[in-house]
Amino acid sequence: MAGISNTKLSPPEKLWATDVFTLSKMQTSLPEDVFESIKATIQTGKKLDVSVAGIVAAAMKDWAISKGASFYAHIFHPLTNITAEKHDGFLSVQRDGSAIAEFTGKALVQGEPDGSSFPNGGIRSTFEARAYTAWDVTSPAYVMETDNGVTLYIPTVFISWTGEALDKKMPLLRANAAMSKAATRLLKLLGHSEVATVNSSCGPEQEYFLIDARFAHSRPDILLTGRTLFGRPAAKGQQFDDHYFGAIPERVQVFMQDVEERMYRLGIPAKTRHNEVAPGQFEIAPYFEAANVASDHQQITMTILKNTAKKHGFICLLHEKPFAGINGSGKHVNWSVSNATQGNLLDPGPNPHTNQQFLLFCGAVIRGVHKYGPLLRAVVATAGNDHRLGANEAPPAIISVYLGKQLEDVFNQIKLGEVTSSAHADVMSLGIPTLPEFPKDPGDRNRTSPFAFTGNRFEFRAVGSNQSVSDPLVAMNTILTDSLTWVADQLEAKLATGIDRDAAAIAVVKEIMEKHSAVVFGGNGYSEEWHTKAVEERGLLNLRTTADALPIFQEESIQELFKRTGVLSAGELESRFHVYAEQYIQAIEMEAKLVISIAKTMISPAVRRHLSALSQSISNLRQIGIEYEFEQENTKTVASLTKQMMDTVRELDNAISTHNFTTLKEHMQYCAKTLRPMMDEVREYADALEGEVADDLWPLPHYQEMLFIK
Ligand code: ADP
Ligand code: MG
Repeated sequence: MAGISNTKLSPPEKLWATDVFTLSKMQTSLPEDVFESIKATIQTGKKLDVSVAGIVAAAMKDWAISKGASFYAHIFHPLTNITAEKHDGFLSVQRDGSAIAEFTGKALVQGEPDGSSFPNGGIRSTFEARAYTAWDVTSPAYVMETDNGVTLYIPTVFISWTGEALDKKMPLLRANAAMSKAATRLLKLLGHSEVATVNSSCGPEQEYFLIDARFAHSRPDILLTGRTLFGRPAAKGQQFDDHYFGAIPERVQVFMQDVEERMYRLGIPAKTRHNEVAPGQFEIAPYFEAANVASDHQQITMTILKNTAKKHGFICLLHEKPFAGINGSGKHVNWSVSNATQGNLLDPGPNPHTNQQFLLFCGAVIRGVHKYGPLLRAVVATAGNDHRLGANEAPPAIISVYLGKQLEDVFNQIKLGEVTSSAHADVMSLGIPTLPEFPKDPGDRNRTSPFAFTGNRFEFRAVGSNQSVSDPLVAMNTILTDSLTWVADQLEAKLATGIDRDAAAIAVVKEIMEKHSAVVFGGNGYSEEWHTKAVEERGLLNLRTTADALPIFQEESIQELFKRTGVLSAGELESRFHVYAEQYIQAIEMEAKLVISIAKTMISPAVRRHLSALSQSISNLRQIGIEYEFEQENTKTVASLTKQMMDTVRELDNAISTHNFTTLKEHMQYCAKTLRPMMDEVREYADALEGEVADDLWPLPHYQEMLFIK
């Protein structure tokens, strides 16, 4: 394994997917008919032929053993944001006492991890603990090496014994299949006779912070909650913009290369890396992949980031807002839909105004985001992400769509009745002969939009850095399924009247824009003006907190949407509401307890020591006839801030013992409206104290040390 030194980097193409049981490895180790059957399942969604599982299992085992593995694990994504795995040995003891390495088809296809302690939101009781993992052939198996050895990992879905989804992957596979069916129907109506399976794609950009582990170890808040519950912003923040895209510090670059090497070995196409806006903040983005593979890879990436950081003496923070007062971290989920016959269905091409197929697919997204914007808000609702969304930071909690100048103009022309042109971008000449000329992009970027069209895909920017990308992908594919079905129905009805296809398509897009253009917004999403206008004039919802957003899961229109598309049953949806609501409540209550204990056991004693030294010094000076006004004032300020802090701590302490809520909704609102403001108030006093108390007595490392020492 690569260590701290960066001298032994191998070329990426040599490392690429060496630890993955790829199609080409299957091809060399499987009989031809078995390989063809598996390949058809992976590439075209053909039903898995279980009779070939035994042969695949044996080949997979031999390959894994050749890589040093002695254990295998079905890996799955329960409703927590983590990844779960249960390990089993290949070792099988025979009747005569000898042992062989064995991996049967049944062990590959199905596992029974129990896992009754995973949150399931009431889908099953502990006495009905039986749950299964089932092999997801479409996401490749791989080996991972730790200091303890090598394990073969098999991506799976996690379901209850009655077949209900207990995980984040099953709904993603269902949403993808539903979207493919709806898209195929529309493509056929548009006259394509050959239509391959449609798949959604995802390219997730991950933002994160790195801090030196030695500082983090002295911060119980960071260790337990992933963010600072106290901390006064340093004199230098991000105001100079000298970190964004700056030269990557050497120690960080060595870390990044180590991360990338691990990713390459696992076939994860790490592509872009750079410094982000805040000091200590960075980003990594892979090439996009099929959504469910990208989602698995994203989970692995988060694990690799955290584990590799430890090896380099860092702690990697994936929290959405580790440091109050400076930029938080998101995960931009770039998403599109495409297939092998028609290509990227969200590619506008050079003349979007005559590209009916694009207009219908893009129009379907616009309709979906308008109808179900609150759902998109709900799937990114977590305690951590509340510090970004709805808190004067990028992006806002109001879900709108940014199309860019060119497309906004085309869609507007259609709305107004006649579409005649697409504004074309010029060629940009830089005026210096040695520099290249290049075409200008037809649309700018808008960093304040939560849902932005970026050339040939949408970028959902409201996703939290800590989150699995699965729920957002499920939501996007599901609303698109619904819209594509509506579009196909409309188109079919119009075609039945005998009008020509192009006119029918434009009429459908026109109807979409008449009903849904309120969601299209190209201005500044942070501004107060937009917040008022969006709600009052456009009728969009501003769901500021998780407590406001999660109940959307319980609305009838949302239950209907998931039921109609076959993505989640009412029970499965309700279970998600329960699990996420409980996670929110637990996160805030845990933070509140920690606020109390840090204030009582760390800050208050430090302040006492400071005050005692001050009063000692004042009385000593007085004895020799010196009156120091400054010291007396400081004593008063510190004493008064401490009293206010401890009074609020007492209030908070009483507040968290209130436990008479009748519904989860009520409990969530209490966390959002009562506990969170009190925690913030304690912090305000404490942060003011940090600016007054002697530095050598302050018990917590400062922002300055954590953000600037690398
Ligand atoms: P930026 O920071 O400008 O938004 P990046 O280059 O950092 O852009 O990231 C863009 C991401 O979008 C990459 O992960 C890229 O692979 C992904 N992407 C590009 N095309 C598609 C597509 N058709 N579907 C999904 N993701 C895409
Ligand atoms: Mg981006």
